[in-house]
Amino acid sequence: MTGRIIKIALDSPLDMEFDYRWQAAAAGDPDPQVGQLALVPFGRREVVGVVTAVGDASDYDAAKLRDVIALRTQLAPLPPAWMALCRFAADYYQRPLGEVMLPCLPKGLRNESTVALDRALKKLAKAAPAAAGPTAIAATAGPTDAAELAAAPTLNPGQQAAVDAITASAGFAANLLFGVTGSGKTEVYLHAAQAVIDRERAQGRAAQVLILVPEINLTPQLEGSVRGRFPHLQVVTLHSQLAEGERLRHWIAAHQGDAAIVLGTRLSVLAAMPSLKLIIVDEEHDPSYKQQEGLRYSARDLAVWRARQLDIPVVLGSATPSIESWQHASNGRYRRLDLTQRAAAHAQLPRVGLIDMEINKAPDGLSPPLVAALRARLERGEQSLLFLNRRGYAPVMHCDACGWISNCRRCTAFMVLHKPERRLRCHHCSLELRIPHACPTCGNVDLQPLGRGTQRVEEHLQVLFPDARVLRIDADSTRRKGSAQAAFDSVHRGEVDILLGTQMVAKGHDFQRLTLVGVINPDTALFSQDYRAGERLFAQLMQVAGRAGRAAIAAPVEGGEGSEGSNARDARAEVLVQTRYPQHPLYRALLAHDYPGFAQATLAERRSASLPPFVFQALLRAEAKQLQPALDFLQAARDLMPCEGIMINDPVPMTITRVAGVERAQLLVESSSRAQLQAFLKSWVAALREQKSRLRWSLEVDPVDI
Ligand code: ADP
Ligand code: ZN
Ligand code: ZN
Repeated sequence: MTGRIIKIALDSPLDMEFDYRWQAAAAGDPDPQVGQLALVPFGRREVVGVVTAVGDASDYDAAKLRDVIALRTQLAPLPPAWMALCRFAADYYQRPLGEVMLPCLPKGLRNESTVALDRALKKLAKAAPAAAGPTAIAATAGPTDAAELAAAPTLNPGQQAAVDAITASAGFAANLLFGVTGSGKTEVYLHAAQAVIDRERAQGRAAQVLILVPEINLTPQLEGSVRGRFPHLQVVTLHSQLAEGERLRHWIAAHQGDAAIVLGTRLSVLAAMPSLKLIIVDEEHDPSYKQQEGLRYSARDLAVWRARQLDIPVVLGSATPSIESWQHASNGRYRRLDLTQRAAAHAQLPRVGLIDMEINKAPDGLSPPLVAALRARLERGEQSLLFLNRRGYAPVMHCDACGWISNCRRCTAFMVLHKPERRLRCHHCSLELRIPHACPTCGNVDLQPLGRGTQRVEEHLQVLFPDARVLRIDADSTRRKGSAQAAFDSVHRGEVDILLGTQMVAKGHDFQRLTLVGVINPDTALFSQDYRAGERLFAQLMQVAGRAGRAAIAAPVEGGEGSEGSNARDARAEVLVQTRYPQHPLYRALLAHDYPGFAQATLAERRSASLPPFVFQALLRAEAKQLQPALDFLQAARDLMPCEGIMINDPVPMTITRVAGVERAQLLVESSSRAQLQAFLKSWVAALREQKSRLRWSLEVDPVDI
């Protein structure tokens, strides 16, 4: 047989696989294989797709089929497990298979030309001439040597029990590692990885471990620990800030089984890893595991699915698990592993205090008790962190004389004042304007900033503490590649007295010299119409609070004696939250470091309000130049087909209705049965596609922002 008919998934919105003819160039050429990449003509272009089936028949007129141009035989076919993962994601998130498979491959694999691919393969072969292929990992070394093990701290009993539970069996188990901030979850990950790799090697098998982190900025610290611990193993990172060539090489190293440990952000959950034996999702609650465009997937959920499919363990770690995961642990679907103590000797959870902003006035954002606490840290040479989740100088500019306000002309949003850059910026459409000298409507020259962002607090800190070394870390101060890393490094080196920032500083960093965390006005989230806002706020506050007091107590104790008792209390790190609602249950739970109490109350609320995880949701969104057509489209979609067991809400404009001149509306679909919702969505999306509406629409399954 020299000619075959193959099916190919292409990055196209058409929900189908495409048939092509393949002719062997020479007798004896091997047949194409499922999972191979192939270059094919598509319309007037040539594109790369993934072979999904090889056969001899087509539903189309075989004579009219076009020929495959080339197979990428230099690359091993994508393994069946990876194909199955993509099929599941396509199915579950209602996307064409090709729109799942192709976008998650590095660009170098999707090029018409093979120059990048060939170069990457050559470089990889040169780097590891002997150690090519998965078996090489098993062959190169025995169990990791003693020197490495020496570098690892002895696990405390809680950590050891967690590692034992995770590695007890090789089969599927979803472990929820619930460990307070600073409890040493990283050590659990590393030891579990080591145990799994050693176990597989002892049986002559290769093993790969996938570690997901929520933020690119967290990869360097973890990468350092992982490399230090596994000097003989190939460790690669996968995230969107890697240069193209690097990302391609790392991806191929994972795909070829050469990389024993893959460390990456959400996109790495779709990396091909033929010998995957353990998946770890750090800070599993983090919203950035949710992709918000294209394939709107949850990397955390796909990680769990992938572990089940491969019949391997998965570890979801967090000090504040997502409400969904907590629920799964409560009903036994996940196994909960608790770390209740901070790991470092004498490190204690910080004391949390609330500053009542009804009593304490703070015209510049910082209340007298917070200022006093900052001053005490400066005098003792300790670091402080101020958390304000709002970048820019002020969220809006305003004219007192006529009421003008800095609305974005393209969005339902304010232009944010960025003083150092002398700009008004819309954070939704990126429109930039120079700061007006006078009010555009009445000419008043005295325009006022309203509210405050990180830049304004920074300015105030410089006035309050002219000698202090203040560093602001937010998306604006870290635009240049590498600048975030440089900033965090200088904090770690102790070159910063007061660190000020947005959620960028709240997550995961192990700051050793920090003894004070101040939280500036987090109250707005308490009254958000998004039902998840409370959960997110609590997680954020616990996270940022968790940055304090991570080292053994270093602070000199006031009063000098250094004995136990009240003086020892003073040496504890402190978290101060400025709020107008000190009695709010969320803050009461924070005071007590009581995540379980918070989660239980939240679950009870969700149950009585019929919200996730007690119902399953999907969101249909439509965009148009005018709002009405978008609403009409959704209304028509609503009436498109019968929907037993499904509740379809009324179409509504989105909270921020207009972005960059486009009006946006949405329709929420709910069901108490996931299976029923899935079945409905499948036929509904097919019917919507049939309509061939010119309006832009998209579907999100398990939406997080409603
Ligand atoms: P988490 O991720 O749970 O917030 P980390 O993994 O960052 O916590 O660990 C917090 C600190 O505790 C780190 O500085 C780490 O080196 C230290 N640590 C972890 N395990 C141990 C241990 N068994 N003994 C001593 N120190 C430990
Ligand atoms: Zn005016
Ligand atoms: Zn805008």
